[in-house]
Amino acid sequence: MTKPVLYGGIEGGGTKFVCAVGTGPEDIQAEIRFPTTTPAETMERTIDFFRQYPEISAIGLACFGPLDPNPLSPTYGQILPTPKPGWTGANLVGMLKQAFHLPVGFDTDVNGAALGEYHWGNGRGLDVFMYLTVGTGIGGGVFVNGSLLHGMIHPEAGHLPMPHDLVRDPFPGICPFHQDCFEGLATGVAMEKRWGQPAATLPPDHPAWDLEAHYIAHAMTSYIYILSPQRIILGGGVGQRDDILKLVQEKTRAYLNGYVQSPAVLEHMDAYIVHPGLGNRSGVVGALALAQQALIQSGK
Ligand code: ADP
Ligand code: ZN
Repeated sequence: MTKPVLYGGIEGGGTKFVCAVGTGPEDIQAEIRFPTTTPAETMERTIDFFRQYPEISAIGLACFGPLDPNPLSPTYGQILPTPKPGWTGANLVGMLKQAFHLPVGFDTDVNGAALGEYHWGNGRGLDVFMYLTVGTGIGGGVFVNGSLLHGMIHPEAGHLPMPHDLVRDPFPGICPFHQDCFEGLATGVAMEKRWGQPAATLPPDHPAWDLEAHYIAHAMTSYIYILSPQRIILGGGVGQRDDILKLVQEKTRAYLNGYVQSPAVLEHMDAYIVHPGLGNRSGVVGALALAQQALIQSGK
């Protein structure tokens, strides 16, 4: 029997990096996590970790954005202008390639998560679906007919303009670019600022949850109208709550108001908007999937 191919996966988050070595979700052979500091220091720790596993065939990096995932672009592999100090222009793929001479897969954290869900989770067998995270930030990865959607750069599903009823919700929003876009109103950080306590500590009967589900459901209707996905996977610290999922399912169906005539949304909403099959492992497992994809594309 041939030995299964070993991959290195990196979930590059704004607050922490998670690096793993394995062949898939059932076979993670080593894992390390550490805080995200400067690009040089963070990538050095990443590289030091993978140096211990010379049998790795490819590396995948599913990273916070905005980033340049287009191999034909001069800024490929870099973080694009970001308010995160020190990270603008950081050439993450360049650093990995210099250290390892291996195929490197590079995409947004949410595209990585979508690919992981496609191979091993709740995206299996689907042609078109979306992975949405609602956590510290909000972002969406989109899978279309066999590949991840990039288009011009990559989708920015978190920055959707959002109807904002200032009577119901006087909170101004926190997006540095758009103030009260979806992310500005509905990230875990916005929830904490609006209500004055961490989202996880808000009691189940707090009005925060209905408002949060209202915003997420509005975004869902836009994604449904534009992409016509066969399923939407809702993850992230806020999105993974069962109570939020249930409210979002109900409200999405109500806001669509019978217009989209598919049994998927009319009758089977519980199987249409779902939690990630990989739980909170979609990111790091998705990075392994990006490595696998890079190896296949390299033809090695
Ligand atoms: P990240 O987005 O940084 O990768 P998470 O997806 O865990 O990480 O999101 C963190 C955010 O989600 C924080 O704002 C935190 O307050 C919020 N959060 C985490 N767990 C919960 C929970 N059980 N209920 C509500 N909010 C949560
Ligand atoms: Zn925004």
